[in-house]
Amino acid sequence: MSRVAKVESFILTVARDEPYLGALRSGEEVNEKGYFVRKGNKTVYLNRDRTVLVRVVTDSGAVGWGETYGLAAPRATTEIITDLLIDFIVGRDPAEAAGIHDDLYDLMRVRGYTGGFYLDALAAVDIALWDVSAREAGKSLAEQLGGRLRKTLPCYVSGLPKPTLGERVEYAKDWQTKGFNTFKIAGAVADDGNVEEVSALRAALGPDVLIACDLHWAFTPEGAIAEIEAMEEHGLWFAEAPVQPEDIKGLAKVAQSVRTPVGAGEEWRTVHEARLRFDADALQIVQPEMGHTGITEFVRICKAAHAQGIAIIPHATIGAGIFLAASLQAGLALEGVIGHEYQPSIFDRNSGLITRGIECRDGVYRVADGPGIGIEPTPNALSQMEKIG
Ligand code: MG
Repeated sequence: MSRVAKVESFILTVARDEPYLGALRSGEEVNEKGYFVRKGNKTVYLNRDRTVLVRVVTDSGAVGWGETYGLAAPRATTEIITDLLIDFIVGRDPAEAAGIHDDLYDLMRVRGYTGGFYLDALAAVDIALWDVSAREAGKSLAEQLGGRLRKTLPCYVSGLPKPTLGERVEYAKDWQTKGFNTFKIAGAVADDGNVEEVSALRAALGPDVLIACDLHWAFTPEGAIAEIEAMEEHGLWFAEAPVQPEDIKGLAKVAQSVRTPVGAGEEWRTVHEARLRFDADALQIVQPEMGHTGITEFVRICKAAHAQGIAIIPHATIGAGIFLAASLQAGLALEGVIGHEYQPSIFDRNSGLITRGIECRDGVYRVADGPGIGIEPTPNALSQMEKIG
C-alpha cells in the first residue's frame, strides 16, 4: 500500500491567437483581465486558455496528474485544495480514490457545496489519485476501470470557429476530406441562425454526415422545440443543452416532444445532478465533462446512464489534455459510450503541453495504453506552470 505524500496545485495559462469559439462578435469586448461575454449564451470566456492542474506524489515517489477548469477565478479552486482538501488527502492510500472523493464531498455537503468550484477541486484531485494509483499498479486507467471494451472512440468535430458561414462550411468540408463525418455547430456563434447553418452544412457535406447543434441553453422549452423541429428538416443528429441548466421540467418537455435525441450534462459535477434528469426522462444522450466530474463521478454518471438506456458522448472542453486523457481512458472502458467530443481549436493547439499518447485521426480517438491516463505534462508545460501550493 502506498500513501499520498504531497498534493500540489498549479495554474497553467496559454496564449491564444483567437478566442475560443472564434473571433469576437459585435458588442463582445475583452476587459482588462482578459474576460469577455459571448452574447449568444451570456457566458464569460477568457481570451487565453487557462487550466488548474494537480500533482499527487506518493511516499514511493510515484506521480499522478489531475486537471480541472481554470478559465474563471482559478485561485478559487486552488485555494480550496491548498487550504482545505490537502490535509484530508495526505496519508491516504490513492487506491481508495473513490472513498477519498466521498469523504471530501461529505466535508461540505450539508452546507450546499455540492457543485461549482468545490467539486472542480475534487475532480482535479480525483483524477490525480486514480492516475497515480493506476501507475503504481502498472496498469492503464482503462484497465483499472475493468479493461478496454473498444480500441478507439469515434469523435465528432465540435465547433467551426470561423467568422462567416461560408468559411465554417469550408472548414467542415476540410475535416470531411480527413475522414471526419460527424460535426456539431455552436449556437452561441451561429450568426446566421442554427437552421441556416445546419441547412448550409447539409447541402455542402451531403446526406450521410451527422450534424448536431449545441443550443447553448438559450431557448425556452417551446422555442427549443420549434428550433429543433426546423433543423430536423435538414437532418439533425442531436440537440444539446436546449434550455437553461436548472430547468429540468423544460428539458424533459423538449426531450419528449422532438424526434431528435436531446443531449445535456456538460455542467454537472455529480451523479446526483444526473439522476434528477435521468429520472425525469429529460434526455437521450448524456455528455459528462471529466474536468468537472473527475473519474469517480464520471464513472457513476456513465453507469447510471447506461442502466437507464441513455447513450454517453463525453464533453471535451478547454484544458491541457490531462482531463481529456482521463475521459478517453474511461470512455474506452465503460459500456454505453458511443463517441467523444473533439475540439481541434483546443486539442490541436495545446497538444504540445502533454506527452504523445492521444491521437484524433480519421474520425476516431486513440489513447496510449497507460500507464495511468497514458500521458503527462511535457517539460514545456511544466516550465509554464505557476505553482500555487
Ligand atoms: Mg456544449
